Amino acid sequence: MPAPLVHVETSPTLPAHADAVVIGGGIIGVFTAYYLARRGLAVALIEKGRIGAEQSSRNWGWCRQQNRDARELPMATLSLDLWERFAADSGEATGFSRCGLFYLSDDEAELAGWARWGEFAKTAGVTTHMLDSRQATARGAATGRSWRGGVFSPTDGTASPADAAPAVARAILKQGGSVHQMCAVRGVETSGGKLSAVITERGIIRTPVAVLSAGAWASSFCHQLGVALPIASIRASALALSPAAEPLPPALHTAAVSITRRGDGGHTLAISGRGRIDPTLQQLRFAPHFLPMFAKRWRSLLPGGLEGLRAGHETVGRWRLDEPTPMEVTRILDPRPDQATIRLTHARAVELLPALRQSRVTAAWSSYIDSTPDGVPAIGELAALPGLIVAAGFSGHGFGIGPGAGHLIADLVTSAAPIVDPRPYEPARFARAGSKKVADF
Ligand SMILES: Cc1cc2nc3c(=O)[nH]c(=O)nc-3n(C[C@H](O)[C@H](O)[C@H](O)COP(=O)(O)OP(=O)(O)OC[C@H]3O[C@@H](n4cnc5c(N)ncnc54)[C@H](O)[C@@H]3O)c2cc1C
Repeated sequence: MPAPLVHVETSPTLPAHADAVVIGGGIIGVFTAYYLARRGLAVALIEKGRIGAEQSSRNWGWCRQQNRDARELPMATLSLDLWERFAADSGEATGFSRCGLFYLSDDEAELAGWARWGEFAKTAGVTTHMLDSRQATARGAATGRSWRGGVFSPTDGTASPADAAPAVARAILKQGGSVHQMCAVRGVETSGGKLSAVITERGIIRTPVAVLSAGAWASSFCHQLGVALPIASIRASALALSPAAEPLPPALHTAAVSITRRGDGGHTLAISGRGRIDPTLQQLRFAPHFLPMFAKRWRSLLPGGLEGLRAGHETVGRWRLDEPTPMEVTRILDPRPDQATIRLTHARAVELLPALRQSRVTAAWSSYIDSTPDGVPAIGELAALPGLIVAAGFSGHGFGIGPGAGHLIADLVTSAAPIVDPRPYEPARFARAGSKKVADF
């Protein structure tokens, strides 16, 4: 029972040349290619499996400013506008709406943290409402119990993970860009020290610029090029329920469980921050980078199994460009859901919201979240390889900022004024001292 996903028809014929090639058709890659195509560039988007089939269709769909790290907040705010503008400009439906996000808690320390964030958010012009016990209990009436407090962020919202990346892919085609599925990019060629082509399993595309929006595969791809990009995958699990007996809040977070209404009226359930670490050689290699993050999150990160080694997305072996790579063996990363977490999530959800008792489990899945040491994505051109822009490590919150990230990357490719300051995202920060601040999210 995998996560639902809309299918997109694309062409098997690759162009020989492109102004830019985007590697990876998740939410970051599709929005990047969309903004490039709108600027009139001949752009080719190459996806080894299916558009949106990895993290981008397996998430909760939250598009939030609430509790964002200061480094990502400007991009989050602009992304909400861009989600709306995308629908108006393209006529394609991503399921985005500003339904508001609702958080409940009985924990004074957690409430104090949200209040502190609310004060900071005011300085950035973001509206969020702290709720006292009476307000939180009234808004959370579906839980049938009282709460110490909560927070409601009215301008945040959700989009549909099953629909969003495919909708943007259709919009790229309408703009004259090309999209190709079931085609892995195996590597790149250089000329005069700069990128000059990408090499795919179906041939070469000459191009001066490529964007590596390859999610959990980005680090091992960079490794092939001799570039160290510290990323560790965390296996997160979620499940879907059929529609509930009574209306529930569209997007509700508690420390125990988070619940999101889906486009089909059912709900996606998950436990925030909980995941398994499946050890791989790549993780061993980058372990020193991740110690502060693991130390901060050790309560919710559990030891995993051999899934990561089997999948091959964190391989440290070298690929040959003239024979199939691990990306062609694993077209779609589809790790096994953690059954203990699925059972716990379901039990907590029906305890929190009795209206879910009659709902059936319709799907359960997991996905590898590509995390950076500081929890902030890596976006920028690689100094070691001019012409290759990396955009990965979205650390469990890249869906909502997909439009803003795609816009920023298109700005970098076309040397336009950047929509937000790109400096907090520079991949080079991992090589420098003093980049150890782990994002709060
Ligand atoms: C359970 C869960 C819940 C989440 N909830 C949220 C949320 O509520 N809100 C939020 O903002 N974020 C959330 N996230 C995170 C969010 O899903 C990701 O940050 C985002 O989808 C990353 O998009 P991406 O395009 O970088 O990666 P992906 O969606 O993983 O796409 C990468 C694509 O690149 C392709 N690829 C890789 N290598 C190659 C190659 N060499 N050639 C061709 N193609 C290649 C892959 O096949 C894949 O399709 C969640 C994630 C999970 C797992």
